[in-house]
Amino acid sequence: MPVLTIVKYGNPVLAKKAEPVREINDEILELARNMVETMHAAPGVGLAAPQVNVSKRLITVDLSVGERPDDLIVLVNPEFLETGGESILEEGCLSVPGIQEKVKRPARVLVRGTDLQGKEKTFEAEGLLARVFCHEIDHINGRLFIENLSPLKRTLIKKKLKKEQLAG
Ligand SMILES: [Zn+2]
Repeated sequence: MPVLTIVKYGNPVLAKKAEPVREINDEILELARNMVETMHAAPGVGLAAPQVNVSKRLITVDLSVGERPDDLIVLVNPEFLETGGESILEEGCLSVPGIQEKVKRPARVLVRGTDLQGKEKTFEAEGLLARVFCHEIDHINGRLFIENLSPLKRTLIKKKLKKEQLAG
């Protein structure tokens, strides 16, 4: 299973609202497998298809980073049914390397999607899992975590990222 290239800040695919997955075919199954591999190799606790340059509504989440098979979640067309509370924690992103910032997120979420068999799944999550769901669902809506920061902070980070891009 190949490890895919993770696209970085500045790539337009990260700013685009991803398309729903209409059919779970071989292409989607292969994408999901490769995304899990890529997430574990990074290593990361979550990955969204736009991060591997595929504008589809598919996310992978694994708080154990490959240590506990039961922790692996692959969710097709995920959406929030409910969000509640508030939590502020430091967050980073494989597509925005080197940046860690405190981000305000809902403390609890209820997420619905389907698994790779097309079966409906709902997850009630809090803490880190809720945060990862929010982060990855933001990705498929074309939103990066730095968009949740104050305008001043955002401008400073974007300047820094642009400079790094120019530097190579
Ligand atoms: Zn991310």
